[in-house]
Amino acid sequence: MSCPTCQSENPDVAAFCHRCGTSQHASSGSTRTYAVQSSEGVNQFAVISTIMPHSNRETADNYRWAMIVSAVLIMGATALGLLPIAIAAAAFLVPIAYLVYIYDVNLWEDAPAPVVAGLFLVTGVLASLVSLFFFVWVFADEFREFGTAGRSGMESFPIVPLLIFAVLLPVVAELVKNLPGLLLARMPQFDDMIDGLTFGVAAGTAYAAFETIVLYRSIFTSGEIRTEQGLATWVVVIINLMVVKSLVYGTATGIAVAAFSGKGEGYDGLTAFYLKNLGFAMLMNVLYWVGVRLAANLPYGQAVGLLWGFVVLVVLVIRIRVMMQAALLEAAVEAAAKADPSKRETFVESFCPECENMLLTGSHFCIVCGTSVRSSSHQARRTMGAPGESPSSASDAGAATTGGAS
Ligand SMILES: [Zn+2]
Ligand SMILES: [Zn+2]
Repeated sequence: MSCPTCQSENPDVAAFCHRCGTSQHASSGSTRTYAVQSSEGVNQFAVISTIMPHSNRETADNYRWAMIVSAVLIMGATALGLLPIAIAAAAFLVPIAYLVYIYDVNLWEDAPAPVVAGLFLVTGVLASLVSLFFFVWVFADEFREFGTAGRSGMESFPIVPLLIFAVLLPVVAELVKNLPGLLLARMPQFDDMIDGLTFGVAAGTAYAAFETIVLYRSIFTSGEIRTEQGLATWVVVIINLMVVKSLVYGTATGIAVAAFSGKGEGYDGLTAFYLKNLGFAMLMNVLYWVGVRLAANLPYGQAVGLLWGFVVLVVLVIRIRVMMQAALLEAAVEAAAKADPSKRETFVESFCPECENMLLTGSHFCIVCGTSVRSSSHQARRTMGAPGESPSSASDAGAATTGGAS
C-alpha cells in the first residue's frame, strides 16, 4: 500500500504513513490525532502535552498530579492568609515544574543544566529590570492611578496608565522574553521547532514569575506574614498569577520562538512567519492585560479577569497545537520527498514511546498511533539509534526508556 501523500510504501496494516504521518484511513479527517500525543486530538485543550511535548502519556499524568497537589497547597496557604509564601510559590510553580520537566526528559544531553539555568536567570534579570523600570522607576505615578480610579465605573477609567501597562509594557516584555530563546534557537543543536517552543515557554514563564515578584514587592517588604482581609479576592488573584498569567506568557513566547526555529532543520530566523507569530504573541498579551485591567473595575472584577485570561490561554494552546501539527507533518512530507536519511528518523529497530509498537526503519511517525518520532525524548531517541553510535549503548538507553514510561 503506498501513501497517497508521499507515495512511500507502508505495510497494509498501517494506520499512519511512517514517513509523512498522513492517516491512511481516508474518512478520518474530522478526528485528526495530534502527532505529538496521539491519544489526543489536535483541537483539544490539553496544556501539559502542549507545553511539554516530550512527555508521554504517563509522565504527563505525573506532572499533572504534581501541579494539582502544589496548587492546592498554595491555595491552602492563601486561605490561611500567608500571602508572601503563597505569592512566591504561585509565581514560581509553573517555571520550576518546567525546569524539572526539561531536566527529567534530559532534553539536550550535550548541554544540560547550565543552558537551562542560564536561560532562566538571564530572563529573570531582564524581567526584573523591565518590571522595575515600568512599575517603580518611571511610571510609578501612572500605575497608582489604577488603584485611585476607584470603583466609579468605566467613565473615569485611567486611559494613559492603561496604554502604558496593558499595551506598551506587554509589547516590550514580549521582545525581552523572545531574546534569550532566539539566541539559543540559533544554535545547531537546538534547531528543532520543539526546542524553540520549549525555550519560549521556559523564558515566558520565568519572566512571568519575576514580574509577579516585582509587582507584589510590597507584600514581601511589609513585614506582615499574615493577612486577614480580602482573602476571597486573593484566592482568585493567586489562581490567575499561578496558572493563567504564567501560561499565557509561556505559550505566547513559545509560539514566537518556535516560529523563529521553523519547521525544517536549521533555524528560519527573522522571517515573515516569525514576525507574524511575534505579533500574535504580543496581541494576546495585550488582550490579556487590557481585559484584566478593565475587568478590575467591574463587580467581581478579579473573577471576570480570571475567566478572560483563561479564554486567552485556550486560544494560545490551540494555536500551538495547530502550528506543531502542521510543522511536523509538512517537514516529514518534505523529507519523504527528498528520500535522503535525516537525523530525525529511526535507524535501527526501535519502539514507539507512546504505544510501544515497533517502528519501521526510516520512520518519522509510528504507523500504529501516528506519534511523531520527534516528540520523543532524547533518551527514547537514543534507543532508536543514531548513526555512528555503537549498538551496545542501546541496552542502557532501553532501560532508561522503560524507566521513563513506568
Ligand atoms: Zn506518506
Ligand atoms: Zn505508536
